Amino acid sequence: MDEHRKIIFSQETEDDEVYSLSLRPALLDDFVGQQDLVENLKISIQAAKLRGEPLEHLLFSGPPGLGKTSLANIVANEMGSRITVTSGPAIDRAGDLIGILTGLEKGDILFIDEIHRLSKVVEEFLYPAMENFKIDFIVDKGPYAKTINFNLKPFTLIGATTRSGLLASPLRDRFGIFHHLEFYNTEELGRIVSRSAEKLGMELTDDASIELAQRSRGTPRIANRLLRRVRDYAQVKSNSSCATRETVHESMRTLGIDPRGLDDADRRLLKVIKEHYKGGPVGIETLAATLNEEVDTLVDVIEPYLLKIGFLNRTPRGRELTSSSRQHIEQSNRPEQSFNDID
Ligand code: ADP
Repeated sequence: MDEHRKIIFSQETEDDEVYSLSLRPALLDDFVGQQDLVENLKISIQAAKLRGEPLEHLLFSGPPGLGKTSLANIVANEMGSRITVTSGPAIDRAGDLIGILTGLEKGDILFIDEIHRLSKVVEEFLYPAMENFKIDFIVDKGPYAKTINFNLKPFTLIGATTRSGLLASPLRDRFGIFHHLEFYNTEELGRIVSRSAEKLGMELTDDASIELAQRSRGTPRIANRLLRRVRDYAQVKSNSSCATRETVHESMRTLGIDPRGLDDADRRLLKVIKEHYKGGPVGIETLAATLNEEVDTLVDVIEPYLLKIGFLNRTPRGRELTSSSRQHIEQSNRPEQSFNDID
């Protein structure tokens, strides 16, 4: 993956993680946007506290970078609970999960990111644990095999997934609270960017923060990442900690990010559909093979935003371009057009 794609799509690097931690909102009142979700969550938290009970199991779904992990940490802060963080692919064996579950205290939160990637075997241990805080496991084999029942302390499982459709229904049904996160609008992203700039000790003019918000694909993680690139650019090129709209324009141009927030990977996908498949429809597997990409990357990371802004249609026969994306491709192909002038 080239440097540019890494900036937008990769899992967070260590450096990113350090920044993310410092930029992550700590309480629900600091969490920008997702108003209905936040309101409902406040009620659930308050009710659980009044009853003196752990919160019901919670599932957050939505594209990467929209705040699922942040919300899990916020819930822990608001409940005054300890949180254990893991992810579906990290729990290889049932034994790993049993180890984690038996270490939980009353009211603790267990956060499992990418919960749709848990193996079937591990998932089955989770059902009784979620339902009645029990696990049964078999030790030894053949005639010596015996089942051991283990009572767990009441805990709250918070699951996060980019693909709720891939969750087995017995698992989905065991969550009491289910929230889907939507892409953020420009005003909300502008507020996130301004707040992050303040935390990073950087000055950003109002029109610069709006410009950056418009290029962030509706995603706070991308907004924060682009903000750091703008900060680097301002420091190196103008020896200043203040970024203006021009600084944003210039740094986005060097990163290849157009005014709709699309980058090389997005443009390549749109172009391939146009040039190899006459605008579609084309099946996702075929598209992934042509682009030499994983299907999961296309489905989880690249296409949700293109669908949201009406640049792609998903039909039973595959993906197809829309009139707006055709227009966008034509404009970005025009050599005389300044990169920053595209619609
Ligand atoms: P996800 O778990 O959905 O991939 P994260 O919770 O890791 O997303 O969010 C990525 C980054 O975006 C966080 O570090 C945080 O700084 C920022 N962020 C996400 N949602 C919000 C929000 N609503 N308000 C402020 N910052 C946010």
